[in-house]
Amino acid sequence: MLETRGHDVIAFAQAIEGLNRLENDESIDAFVVVNARDASAGAEICWDARLLSSFERPVYVCLVAPPLSSKDFIEALDCGADDVLQLPISADELYARLRAAERLHQMQHKLVEMATRDGLTGLYNRPAFFSRAAKLCAEHSAPFAGIMADIDHFKSINDTHGHAAGDKAIRAVAECFKSQSDIVGRLGGEEFAILLEVSDPAEAWRKAERMRRLIAMQEIDLDRAAVRLSCSFGIAMGEPGENIDELLRKADAALYVAKRAGRNMVALYDAETMAIQPRAKSAVRSVKASAQRRAAG
Ligand code: GH3
Ligand code: MG
Ligand code: MG
Repeated sequence: MLETRGHDVIAFAQAIEGLNRLENDESIDAFVVVNARDASAGAEICWDARLLSSFERPVYVCLVAPPLSSKDFIEALDCGADDVLQLPISADELYARLRAAERLHQMQHKLVEMATRDGLTGLYNRPAFFSRAAKLCAEHSAPFAGIMADIDHFKSINDTHGHAAGDKAIRAVAECFKSQSDIVGRLGGEEFAILLEVSDPAEAWRKAERMRRLIAMQEIDLDRAAVRLSCSFGIAMGEPGENIDELLRKADAALYVAKRAGRNMVALYDAETMAIQPRAKSAVRSVKASAQRRAAG
C-alpha cells in the first residue's frame, strides 16, 4: 500500500531488527508496528520506538493491530503510539492518516530548525552549538580543536555600508565556515565557534589559517561596492572528555591575543606553556624576509 504511493518502505520480520535500524538511520520518519495477533506486544514495541525518538529527532510511531478494546487502545497511545490503526484498514484511510502525520512531522521539523538554527545564517545558534559540541567532546575518542572567530572591525562595515550590508557580510563569512566544518555556531553578532576533528595542533592551525585566508580573499558585494573583510581566530586543543565551556574559554583567550596583535590572525592556546602564540601574516612575511636576506648575504 505504501510503496504504490511513493513511500520508501523497509520491512522487518523481527521488531528488534526494525528498532536497530531506527536507532541507526536518522532518515527514518515513521515507524509502523504491525501485530495482527497481540496488541499488547505491539504496544511494547511502540514504547521502544518512542524511546528512540526525541524533540530533535521526531519519529511518527503507528500501531496496526486487530480491533482493540478501549483499554488496549488507551494503552497503545500511552505507550507512545501517535496513532492506532485497527485491522482491516483501507488504503485510503492509511494514506489519510499518513498525510495528517506528515503535517505534524513537518511542523515539528520546522520547530526544531527554529529552536536550533540562527535565523540569519542557518548556523547552529548558541545553545544548539554548545549541546552538539558537548556531545562530541564527551563521545569523541580523538583530539579536536575549538575555534573562536570574530570579524575584524565589523562595526565600521555597518557604519559605512549600512546594517543590511553588514548582515550580508555575516552570511558570507558563515558560508565560508559552513564549508569547512559540520559543527559551526553563531554565538553572537559577528562571533562564531567551530569544532574541528584534528589529529594535532598543527592540523588545527592549518585549517584555521585556511579559513582565515578564504575569508580575507573573498570579495563581498555590499551596497554596490566589493568589500573585503577579515576575521581573527583563537584555537584551543581539546582531549576526549574535555569541558566545552573551558575549551572555548581558552580559544577566546587566544582570539583576544590575535585581536591585540593586529587582527586577521590565528592564535593558538598552548596548554603546556600556558602561552598564547599569535602567528601573523606579518610574522610570516618577516620570517620570509629574513630568510631572503640570509640567502642573499
Ligand atoms: P573587533 O575587530 O575588535 O572585533 O571590532 P568590531 O567592530 O568587529 O567589534 P565590536 O564588538 O565593536 O562591534 C561589533 C558590531 O557588530 C556591533 C554591532 O552593531 C554589530 N552587530 C551585531 N550583530 C549584528 C547583526 O546581526 N547584524 C549586523 N549587521 N550587525 C551586527
Ligand atoms: Mg568583531
Ligand atoms: Mg565581537
